[in-house]
Amino acid sequence: MAKILNVQQLEKSYSSGSKRLKVLQDISFDIEERESFAIVGPSGSGKTTLLGLCAGLDQADSGRIELCGTDLSDLNEDERAVLRNRRVGFVFQDFQLLPTLTALENVAVPLELQGAKDAIKTGKELLEKVGLKDRMDHYPSQLSGGEQQRVALARAFSTKPSILFADEPTGNLDAVTGEKVVKLLFELNKEAGTTLVIVTHDLELAQKTQRILRLKGGRIISKETSAS
Ligand code: ADP
Repeated sequence: MAKILNVQQLEKSYSSGSKRLKVLQDISFDIEERESFAIVGPSGSGKTTLLGLCAGLDQADSGRIELCGTDLSDLNEDERAVLRNRRVGFVFQDFQLLPTLTALENVAVPLELQGAKDAIKTGKELLEKVGLKDRMDHYPSQLSGGEQQRVALARAFSTKPSILFADEPTGNLDAVTGEKVVKLLFELNKEAGTTLVIVTHDLELAQKTQRILRLKGGRIISKETSAS
């Protein structure tokens, strides 16, 4: 199987006052097309940072990331944005919906930006799929956390990404809504073949994926094949 993500010798640090804080060190792993993959570890271990680097949202200090067959360091910011729009979906921990747009507009706008002619129709279908048929004209502030998360998922699915990065997709949800969201993610993985990369501290969710990468203090401490 082809690799959709290949990470080699990644290092990342942040400035903290006059000091540099090393957040990721010696990170190497890869993910196959259509695989479901979890990144777990305690709070502060570098999971979100790693996800952002892999998705091309931020840049590493050193090392190499090949995403969808392209070395990210060969791309400028605009080119990385084009790759993300075409191939990559991202679900943020805090949803990051646009507050001045309705649920439907949040889903349809990325499609319109891609030049889709039937953006509204597709947006409606996706919102129906995530159980939000009667919430399409609501603004994010009029939606519960679970509903906002499902809009964010519909938006991430809308462009049919080859790979979807989800940062704590169930972190802000109650158990029942969390289960619905997990079901949607794995449906996307199985039916559309979208590669799933999930950051979570929910070990039950991690066990549903095929492989688990464990981080601690910015380093990989294990790579496991999941029991399920
Ligand atoms: P996790 O997702 O595992 O909780 P993060 O990747 O969010 O970990 O953070 C790893 C470490 O990097 C933490 O110590 C955090 O405080 C620090 N960090 C994250 N983002 C920044 C930033 N933009 N500037 C400075 N430090 C940061």
